Amino acid sequence: MIKSLGIYIHVPFCKQKCVYCDFYSLPRREEDMDAYVSALERQLSQFSPLAAECTVTSIYFGGGTPSYLGPDRLCRLLRKVRTTFHTAYVAEITLEANPDSASEVQDLTALRRAGFNRLSLGMQSADDGELKALGRVHTMAQTRTAVEAARKAGFDNLSLDLIYGPPGQTPARWRDNLAAAMALHPEHLSCYGLKAEPGTPLYDRRETLPGDEAQAEMYLETVETLEARGWQQYEISNFARPGRESRHNLKYWTRQGYLGFGPGAHSYFQGRRFAWSRDLDAFLAGTPSLSEDQTLTRRDTVEEYLMLRLRLTQGLHPDHFEGLFGLDFSPFLPFLERCEAAGYAVRREGAWHLTPRGFLVSNQIIGELLDISRALNLD
Ligand code: SF4
Repeated sequence: MIKSLGIYIHVPFCKQKCVYCDFYSLPRREEDMDAYVSALERQLSQFSPLAAECTVTSIYFGGGTPSYLGPDRLCRLLRKVRTTFHTAYVAEITLEANPDSASEVQDLTALRRAGFNRLSLGMQSADDGELKALGRVHTMAQTRTAVEAARKAGFDNLSLDLIYGPPGQTPARWRDNLAAAMALHPEHLSCYGLKAEPGTPLYDRRETLPGDEAQAEMYLETVETLEARGWQQYEISNFARPGRESRHNLKYWTRQGYLGFGPGAHSYFQGRRFAWSRDLDAFLAGTPSLSEDQTLTRRDTVEEYLMLRLRLTQGLHPDHFEGLFGLDFSPFLPFLERCEAAGYAVRREGAWHLTPRGFLVSNQIIGELLDISRALNLD
């Protein structure tokens, strides 16, 4: 059987740090970029024997801001991935880009011709004041230009990232942002609620974000609005036009294998999770180390499965669970039935799904399910 594999390439450079960002990204270092591409090429070569039996069906350039590498370096890296791993002809190949660095039709055309076939733009807001407050370096006009340029270059699979709940945002303003994003006719939308993560300027400034109630209202309205327009929600924060789900991100949520390259990149391969440490200098010197390396136990696998299935609208099917793990699903039923009575879960075609209101409290629901799973005999 063909083993499908995803490849993730991390590019940690950004023009400036956004105030809410806790990803591994550094101020753009033009002088390091060629060396970075060479270091990635070396790491890709080292791992190719490991994946000899696999076919790469998705490639994702994320960051950071991969578009700052420029088309020549990006095309060179994509060539390297394709010549190093057996890659399916129809692989989904995504490039994350910031609108300010994806506006040249010529550059985007070169990327499209090289094989990139999905563009994920960090729009975040349609309001220039909000963009500035978030520390973003682009404007809404640049997002419009980037979308237009992408279409001219032949990208017919376009995703936009949006953030709801920046300081001072009202549900009405968020509604306008969502409408502005839809007016650009993307195929995919990711909508994330802003959180002040410790260690970020947003957290340190103690700025007041819209409260839980306002964020919940924005989220529920997002789900309702998009559904009414024929979009499909397929994960807590992700929506797609029919057939345009992110095949790469679905690998993360359905526990398919992927290998990540570059500092801070994570991998899941043959039951093992590992991550490269967030250390650009060690990576450039060819001496990267692992910050995480875990072979999953049966208990870890069951817990991950429960957690991931409930993030997806596909939901949790008792037969699938029992077939996969040889375990009885019935201990979970009384709790799920209580969730159903409270309007947090529904049972459809035998599978348990969280409702949009259930997604809002998914951490608590998943926490309870994990507590129940701890009583199972998994040795
Ligand atoms: S562009 Fe993305 S990765 Fe870069 S600083 Fe902003 S949020 Fe972080």
